[in-house]
Amino acid sequence: SGKFFVGGNWKCNGTTASISKLVSDLNDAKMEADVDVVVAPPFVYIDQVKKTLTDRVEISSQNSWVGKGGAFTGEISVEQLKDVGCTWVILGHSERRHVIGEDDQFIGKKAAYALTENLKVIACIGERLEEREAGKTFDVCFQQLKAYADNVPSWDNIVVAYEPVWAIGTGKVATPEQAQEVHVAVRDWLKKNVSVEVASKTRIIYGGSVNGSNCAELAKQEDIDGFLVGGASLKGPEFATIVNSVT
Ligand code: 13P
Repeated sequence: SGKFFVGGNWKCNGTTASISKLVSDLNDAKMEADVDVVVAPPFVYIDQVKKTLTDRVEISSQNSWVGKGGAFTGEISVEQLKDVGCTWVILGHSERRHVIGEDDQFIGKKAAYALTENLKVIACIGERLEEREAGKTFDVCFQQLKAYADNVPSWDNIVVAYEPVWAIGTGKVATPEQAQEVHVAVRDWLKKNVSVEVASKTRIIYGGSVNGSNCAELAKQEDIDGFLVGGASLKGPEFATIVNSVT
């Protein structure tokens, strides 16, 4: 449902030189017109990317502060992100949840603030391996979804990214069936807890070891509306292949 969406999450990777090469590869790449394409550079390179990357591709940040700027050492505000050209922010990524320690409520509040200030949100959810093995995949995803739902003013500018933690950076991609199963459950949760309209309109994208070879099979699934790509988004031609996997 909705336009296919492909995001490249560059995480904490790159240098001025490598990003200049990546941007030039993206500028040269052929991308299907009917796809929303977004890249998320590290904060310090956003300005460089904004000034050099084609307008065909939107820019996201990888995080944002929970409220208005001020005395918050080391943080970056939504207003500043918009000022340098971001139109999206990735929130609730598993690395922020499990490595840095952000909790559901904090993430929900960040999403609410970003949306209120007109920054669109890629809202990440996903279970860890031990949670999947304990049969808690849906419980975990629903709890994370609820924290967004309890806080956000509207779902108009949210894309949900299902990223099972065990698939991130591991080369162990979810099977199309595993991803589809959770995407259906997420849509069903939205139907029951938000609205039928939001459930049908909201794009649910998959992330976790997506690459140029496995994207086509995943993209065929009815409820996979795009991808959030880590490692493979650092290679321009491969990222373009993933963008073009739209079916
Ligand atoms: P990988 O594609 O490197 O597994 O990372 C996925 C991810 O975390 C995107 O946000």
